[in-house]
Amino acid sequence: MSKPTQFSIESRDGMARSGALATRRGMIETPVFMPVGTAGSVKGIRFEELEGDDLDAKIILGNTYHLWLRPGLETIRECGGLHKFIGWQRPILTDSGGFQVWSLGELRKITEEGTEFRSHVDGSLRFLSPEVSMEVQAALGSDIAMIFDECAPGEADRETARRSMELTLRWAKRSRARFDQLQAEGADSGKLPAGNDLSGAQALFGIVQGATHHDLRRESLARTVEIGFDGYAIGGLSVGEEKPVMWDVLSRLTPEMPEEYPRYLMGVGTPEDLVEGVSLGIDMFDCVLPTRNGRNGQAFTSLGKLNIKNAQWTSDDRPLDDTCECAVCRRHTRAYLRHLYLAGEMLASILLTHHNLAFFLDTLRRVRQAIRSGKFTEFRREFTESINSGVV
Ligand SMILES: [Zn+2]
Repeated sequence: MSKPTQFSIESRDGMARSGALATRRGMIETPVFMPVGTAGSVKGIRFEELEGDDLDAKIILGNTYHLWLRPGLETIRECGGLHKFIGWQRPILTDSGGFQVWSLGELRKITEEGTEFRSHVDGSLRFLSPEVSMEVQAALGSDIAMIFDECAPGEADRETARRSMELTLRWAKRSRARFDQLQAEGADSGKLPAGNDLSGAQALFGIVQGATHHDLRRESLARTVEIGFDGYAIGGLSVGEEKPVMWDVLSRLTPEMPEEYPRYLMGVGTPEDLVEGVSLGIDMFDCVLPTRNGRNGQAFTSLGKLNIKNAQWTSDDRPLDDTCECAVCRRHTRAYLRHLYLAGEMLASILLTHHNLAFFLDTLRRVRQAIRSGKFTEFRREFTESINSGVV
């Protein structure tokens, strides 16, 4: 029987791998960066730009939590699912809302059944559970759905991390069961006819938890794989622990992950983090940094981060990044972008977001090429040296 997704690895260089993930709405070359489309919009950029040659994003992320609260399921269902609603026919991955409600801190209550919280939109009391999350993601009709998980803080002690991991495993089983039911009931609004060796159904990824405890991570992985998913994500990293700790966890975990499934490191990271993650065998990333920091006046460049507010750019006629070929770098100077930012022009956010996304996506393009030509180690060294050179 054909599956919702097919993953094939074409080249390897050390632990780094480059391949292709076939989904019902198109092929995604990996390693891949997925821009985050929180509430049905990748903030500050039009879909035409996301699809254009500069960016050419093959997949974007949608947030279950935000879309469920506003505009709400009924509206999205009536508008024919998320792809149709937002006008984007390429693949979409939705998160489960687990991380968002967990991030609410004091404002939420986690029980065995699920998580109760107050909506940030209208203050109403809401309840999100594995079942509800699967129902929302089916109605959204994303191409890849995520299980509803619970995240432990980065510095969680063993007991807290174990409790959280066990809860996530029980929720993973409930997610799987409800997901399969919904597929059988035809609730998936993004369903396509079978073809190209794919079933046309939504895919479901599991999430490995266990904070920074290696044995818990290993156990979480084995028991998640036992339930069986189309891909495996690593959650609960980049949530307060030190960077070297994160790399240590990953370097021990990824060699034990099933080779033939995509590996997704959730919510990470900076351009250096992406390259580091790839070197440890990660295939998929998402992060709000390029868009959020763009709106805050920060540009990511091959020579490190650049704060557009700084007085040193007042009459600087260079582009944000000499080596970047994006439309913003082809046309505009640092001086002009600084002026726009200080004048409070919305174009500043738009242009910085465009460049940042171009930089992230191009970095992954170069990573894929380097892996294919067996030059990833060299690429990684040069990239890291350049970005840390401090000469921006
Ligand atoms: Zn650029």
